[in-house]
Amino acid sequence: MKIIRKIEQMQEYIRKHRRAGKTIGLVPTMGALHEGHLSLIRRAARENDLVVVSIFVNPIQFGPNEDFKKYPRPFAKDVKLAVKAGADIIFNPGAGEMYPPGYQTYVEPGELTAGLCGAFRPAHFRGVVTVVIKLFNSVLADRAYFGQKDYQQAQVIKQMVKDLNLQMQIVVCPIIREKDGLAMSSRNQYLSPEERRSATCLHEALRVAKAMVSSGIKDAGKIKREIRNIIQSNLLAKVDYIEIVDAGSLEPVKQIKGQAAIALAVFIGKTRLIDNMVWG
Ligand code: AMP
Repeated sequence: MKIIRKIEQMQEYIRKHRRAGKTIGLVPTMGALHEGHLSLIRRAARENDLVVVSIFVNPIQFGPNEDFKKYPRPFAKDVKLAVKAGADIIFNPGAGEMYPPGYQTYVEPGELTAGLCGAFRPAHFRGVVTVVIKLFNSVLADRAYFGQKDYQQAQVIKQMVKDLNLQMQIVVCPIIREKDGLAMSSRNQYLSPEERRSATCLHEALRVAKAMVSSGIKDAGKIKREIRNIIQSNLLAKVDYIEIVDAGSLEPVKQIKGQAAIALAVFIGKTRLIDNMVWG
């Protein structure tokens, strides 16, 4: 295992391994690793000769009132977990390495960011795609692994790879959940015990939505109302959005047909959680 903090050193290391014919998998993370992250690392380890896990809390994807400062950074523990799951290299650049003084270039994502989290977190996806392309250029991987947990993010990144002709494969992996259904997230640790119990309402609402669709209900408005009722019956929960969208374009649909995704963002107390489910 090796920890690399400089971009040039990372590129050099990868070039050496590419020359030796090795395939490279990259798992970008912000650390505070949990089983969701580890599932991506394990998959990358199965599919590549060398696995790089990046740990970087990216300042430019946080809004001014968001949790950048308090975001958990248990680096030593993360390294142990990542290595156990199959990481060969931890890429851990500092903010000054990624955005040195004079830095001025950003990647601007398009229509896919108009709704869902993009509508509530201005500049978030601009920050995400900018850091992701910088990580891609630092690590020069064959494949990069992302979670379906951040469904819009995965779609936006796939679109960027296509639009900018990047020579990499994006692998999107299933959502890993706690036993009671709560999607694993580094932010779950902000929840008090009472909030943690309430947080299961996101998955519960998605389960009800799935049952409605399976029973033949196609009216997106009706399903969204039902979901909202379930979540709002919870005193600690405040809905940011509940949306049913075309799974490819992310545009809202009135009727569910073909591939659709239901995505939601809910504040439990002060913690904003997201979850989703995809059909078809
Ligand atoms: P983050 O550290 O939150 O930026 O997440 C890094 C990667 O892990 C992203 O591609 C996420 O979508 C993915 N991820 C986070 N939580 C989960 C989860 N519960 N299941 C699967 N992937 C996840």
